[in-house]
Amino acid sequence: MQQTKDIKETRFLLGTIVDITVYSNNEEMALHAIQQATLAMTAVEQSFTTYGETSNTVKLFNLAPAGIDVELNASVDRLLEQSLVIHKQTFGAFDPTLGELNQRWGFSSTYKPKTPLSDHIIMESLQKSGVENLQRTKPLTWHKNKEGLKLDFGAIAKGLAIDEGVKKLESMGVEHAIINAGGDIRVLGDHGGKPWRIAVRHPREQKPLGWFEVNQDLSIVTSGDYERFFLYEGKRYHHIIDPNTGKPSATSLSVTVIAPTATQADALSTAMFILGYKQGIQVIEGLDGVEAIWVAFDQSVHMSSGMKMMFHSKAVKVHKH
Ligand code: AMP
Ligand code: MG
Repeated sequence: MQQTKDIKETRFLLGTIVDITVYSNNEEMALHAIQQATLAMTAVEQSFTTYGETSNTVKLFNLAPAGIDVELNASVDRLLEQSLVIHKQTFGAFDPTLGELNQRWGFSSTYKPKTPLSDHIIMESLQKSGVENLQRTKPLTWHKNKEGLKLDFGAIAKGLAIDEGVKKLESMGVEHAIINAGGDIRVLGDHGGKPWRIAVRHPREQKPLGWFEVNQDLSIVTSGDYERFFLYEGKRYHHIIDPNTGKPSATSLSVTVIAPTATQADALSTAMFILGYKQGIQVIEGLDGVEAIWVAFDQSVHMSSGMKMMFHSKAVKVHKH
């Protein structure tokens, strides 16, 4: 029997640095499981990306004219259904049909944008969005009713990739692990009878906002305006777009969501960023096993009721609602 220890591998995928750590006494098994989990995560990335050369059914759907049926890959079909549920739960803040607008803003392209979009382009692109313009005509098969409508899973697919990675680790016999994709995390089991300690970044300062101690299966995902942004005439333009205005949301600086799955935590962190804490807390309180913490636009910190049991901080004064 070998000594039980952290076995960690780092990869670059999903546009970010992904650390997979397995706590195990069987290094060979752990390394093999990490390899398989990486493949599972890469497969999710390939199925959902709207960038690069590989063909996938999201790209086919986005290119298709209005009224033409497109058969989606089963995981895309499932995530689209789940996205529509989250769209409803978040009063439309999470919107998987903003593809055209997101591409125009260009935060995910190779050449980073330097200037904001004109109001004219924003209006034109917003007109090519809207979940009411999506229709499922038969199993797996969807079409758009609006010319130019494009899907974008950028706010949820990383979460799904993390979930699929963890599922693969589990299926290969791993009991204790953590996947960290650029700060978006899912935990499996504990860390040798002790909790995993997970820091939350402060959106404006070098010191962490605080930390969680986690010894159960759950996910922690953050959306922040510091992740992808540019400054123009002293104003910050970032990648989280309010579907009502077509512009970067100004309600929050960052939001961290805890949820049973990374898919849910990913989508909700983006949506909660846009909704802001006042409306967002009500949504979160209605969801089982979900908690959130906001750093609002004025750097004030707000949390859902269950979060205060989980979040630790030395410095932050938290408004409890
Ligand atoms: P995240 O980093 O998870 O908050 O997701 C941000 C990414 O999701 C952006 O880069 C866009 O691709 C996409 N996105 C931006 N605004 C929204 C929105 N309101 N609803 C769904 N996806 C969005
Ligand atoms: Mg997200």
